[in-house]
Amino acid sequence: MPVPRVPRRREPLQDIAGPGRKRVLLASPRGYCAGVDRAVIAVEKALERFGAPVYVRKQIVHNIHVVTELEKQGAIFVEEVDEVPEGAHVVFSAHGVSPAVVNAASDRGLRAIDATCPLVTKVHREAVRFARDDFEILLIGHEGHEEVEGTAGEAPEHVTVVNSPDEADTIEVRDPSKVVWLSQTTLSVDETMETVRRLRARFPQLQDPPSDDICYATQNRQVAIKKVAKDADLVIVVGSANSSNSVRLVEVALEHGAKAAYRVDYADEVEQAWLEGVETVGVTSGASVPEVLVQQVLDDLAAAGYRDVEQVRTAEEDLMFSLPKELRQDAAGKRDDRALGGRSRS
Ligand code: SF4
Repeated sequence: MPVPRVPRRREPLQDIAGPGRKRVLLASPRGYCAGVDRAVIAVEKALERFGAPVYVRKQIVHNIHVVTELEKQGAIFVEEVDEVPEGAHVVFSAHGVSPAVVNAASDRGLRAIDATCPLVTKVHREAVRFARDDFEILLIGHEGHEEVEGTAGEAPEHVTVVNSPDEADTIEVRDPSKVVWLSQTTLSVDETMETVRRLRARFPQLQDPPSDDICYATQNRQVAIKKVAKDADLVIVVGSANSSNSVRLVEVALEHGAKAAYRVDYADEVEQAWLEGVETVGVTSGASVPEVLVQQVLDDLAAAGYRDVEQVRTAEEDLMFSLPKELRQDAAGKRDDRALGGRSRS
């Protein structure tokens, strides 16, 4: 399932910027969030507890390196539960699943381990509650993204996906007095607020979600990169192409002053030409990215003369989630309620 890795640059980066101050502004927070940490550990624990193979529906988190490493340990990634042998263990990814997927797994006698991020589960609960009260739910998010499919699947009759601010201008609702907006957890905060503004202009009684759906990790990484971007000639975002929050970081950097911004999976995708005339490089990473990948970018930049690294910290993160309930008992039957946090992993 993972796309094979194609190395791009064979030569090390050269110091071509010439004399002058060369520096890196390293955004913080960046990288692993609590939900990703928990999901990755869930797969590792499942392998440890039940032995390989353990099946995982979809990529456990949207990062090619993480998926490839787990494959080496014995995880098998599938698109749908009907590819999993009857009776086997299957882990649901951090992005969440619809009730239809849960039922399909149960019908096949699969032993499911639900690694859905609790902050995604919160949005699912909101969707169920508003659907029960017969609201029409305008779900701001990207059609086809796994998280959006999972949330919409909680109440398909009540959910309409709104992909962009422009779609807010044309969307039709059944009863404008009974509409609420919810959102995908990994969107651009600014763009989402623009979508809401345009929806509200058309439907003044539009209700807000009970609390922010865009999660703390997405918001914190955007705030940090905004601060970095205004002083950066170039921003490098480490993250995979299918990682919504990573792709948003590139967009946010460009909107907030970066002269150029690129996303890379690996350090060797950084192109020499990007560094031409560049004094300040901003660096960050998406919520599914292990710190080792950022360190490789910093090492390559140091070789090109960018040895002065300054952390730009805009928030501290200490949120932790406990393991999925299916993994909370150890082999001896003792409960393992250890809380997990957004620690950096390699
Ligand atoms: S990005 Fe946010 S919603 Fe997604 S796994 Fe991390 S904490 Fe959870």
